[in-house]
Amino acid sequence: MALLQISEPGQASAPHQHKLAIGIDLGTTNSLVASVMSGQSTILTDENNQSILPSVVHCGKDNKLTVGCDACPYAKTDPTNTIVSVKRFMGLGFKEVSNFKNCPYQLVENGNNVLFHTAMGDLSAVEISSTILSSLKERAEKSLGGDLVGAVITVPAYFNDAQRQATKDAATLAGLNTLRLLNEPTAAAVAYGLESGEEGVHAIYDLGGGTFDISILSFSKGVFKVLATGGDSTLGGDDFDQLIIDDCVEKMGVSELTPTQMQKIKQFARVAKETLSTQDFAEFDCIETPYKITREKFDKLSSKLIKRTLLLVKRALRDAQVEMSAVKDVIMVGGSTRMPQVRSMVTDLFNKPVLCSINPDEVVAKGAAIQANILAGNKSADEMLLLDVLPLSLGLETMGGLVEKVVHRNTTIPITRAQEFTTFKDGQSAMSIHVLQGERELVKDCRSLGRFDLTGIPPMVAGNARIRVEFQVDADGLLSVSASEQVSGVKAQVVIKPSYGLSDGQMEQMLKDSILFAKSDIEARQLHETQVDANRTLEAIDSALAKDKDMIDQQMFDDIMQARSELEAVVSHTEEKVIQNKIDHLEKTCAGFVEMRMNASVMKAMQGHNVDEF
Ligand code: ADP
Ligand code: MG
Repeated sequence: MALLQISEPGQASAPHQHKLAIGIDLGTTNSLVASVMSGQSTILTDENNQSILPSVVHCGKDNKLTVGCDACPYAKTDPTNTIVSVKRFMGLGFKEVSNFKNCPYQLVENGNNVLFHTAMGDLSAVEISSTILSSLKERAEKSLGGDLVGAVITVPAYFNDAQRQATKDAATLAGLNTLRLLNEPTAAAVAYGLESGEEGVHAIYDLGGGTFDISILSFSKGVFKVLATGGDSTLGGDDFDQLIIDDCVEKMGVSELTPTQMQKIKQFARVAKETLSTQDFAEFDCIETPYKITREKFDKLSSKLIKRTLLLVKRALRDAQVEMSAVKDVIMVGGSTRMPQVRSMVTDLFNKPVLCSINPDEVVAKGAAIQANILAGNKSADEMLLLDVLPLSLGLETMGGLVEKVVHRNTTIPITRAQEFTTFKDGQSAMSIHVLQGERELVKDCRSLGRFDLTGIPPMVAGNARIRVEFQVDADGLLSVSASEQVSGVKAQVVIKPSYGLSDGQMEQMLKDSILFAKSDIEARQLHETQVDANRTLEAIDSALAKDKDMIDQQMFDDIMQARSELEAVVSHTEEKVIQNKIDHLEKTCAGFVEMRMNASVMKAMQGHNVDEF
């Protein structure tokens, strides 16, 4: 019904509006949402004033879904139906996850995909992750009081194509428009960069619950550039918990643990670890036997894990070709950087104090919100130009099972790179193109992203065909590949859908019958939207008639009034379809009137002007 709302010539239709955009730190352990309000990046809290949403989802009986804090107790009482650390599963295939340690879930193999067998049915990591995102979305809409234009969602720098795509799919499923996927350490640097405005090379050390990321960034003249990224997507606070679990189990001499017992010990171990950040010892009851651990013992156990992170730090510095001494600041991110030994070992390595003035739990979400605010158009984009890099090399399979890299890791993105290949047989009419991701030389050691065929190459002598393969990586780090034979112009193209990935059809199906947003929810929302739409239509027609009633004859006026009262009569109807039908009918009846008003409005705009001016 937009056509009825014609604004007068020269009159702006709406004043400049602040668009509501959010930044989401979708963490393995904890997730947060932030937004820029009155120029300040602010963490949005829930109705209990909590900023952190534990990334825990309970899929209970009778389709009862619980997300966050309320889901945490179920990790003890109903571990198989309570998914914690779902991020560890994002974008991975069945084989990759089946050797996860201490995993209490019943995993179901479904092609390349993994499903969690729960009381709510078999669910994918994408679906579970989307419930976390929609919970944050709801929180944001409530506290900001309006519809969101989109979100910047952060991912570990080490996430591969499949994991990034899975994150985007989860956002789509949650009804969120992804403005951009942003590397977590980059987001942290944005938060610090704005406040300090300092120039130089910075290292971002992010030790969270499930992942470790190190990024080397340069910041100069208001521009961030990621020089290198590194890390380990399977190293985080959970592994420090595991040290305590292992020590405890060893001391207790127990071999078989039930999932419930295991989940219990896990929670106790985490509390003990966090206690050790501020106290000299921690203790808990492990299967009715008291267990005690001292800070000294814990530090001894953990130094091996911390050393692993330090090796990765050194490697990233080498990649960035930066000397340790050239690093100006070391920014600490992630809850696990609260461990004193982490801080001291990192301090010792760099030989300078580390930065932790912004809450290490909140810094990523805050940076993402700043970026979202820019991408939503609330600020001029050149206020902070953000360059990101590709975390892993992309290449093609060549003869002999070798990988030829086309785009190297740490290349700044977005980027387009092309490489030429040729045929190796006389008269070869097709070429199979196999796209891979990884740093290793052999196909079998890299991750296969997809295959496609270029067919219809005209017969030529071996070596005469010129096949150009083009890689395009967008700002989110997602890849599309095209191949064309240059002499004949034959083309083929794929957008790389990781092999775990969801087809568009599957995605649509999931959106349609997602049990996660119980059907009734969707229907209720649709009904509400249609009711709002009906009222808006009625208002629009009234205001149009008040202004331009003289344009139409009596017959048309009567018809419109008839259709109008029919719609008015059903405005509060509980069936969406009934209301929609009457809206459609009114719109159809008004079509002639709308056109007349359009014409009149154009005529008015042109009055006093020469036609040539238009
Ligand atoms: P993620 O980004 O992976 O979601 P967070 O940055 O929220 O994770 O960090 C969560 C991790 O931080 C957990 O392993 C948690 O036990 C740990 N953590 C939180 N507070 C402390 C603390 N005071 N001491 C040690 N570890 C902590
Ligand atoms: Mg994090």
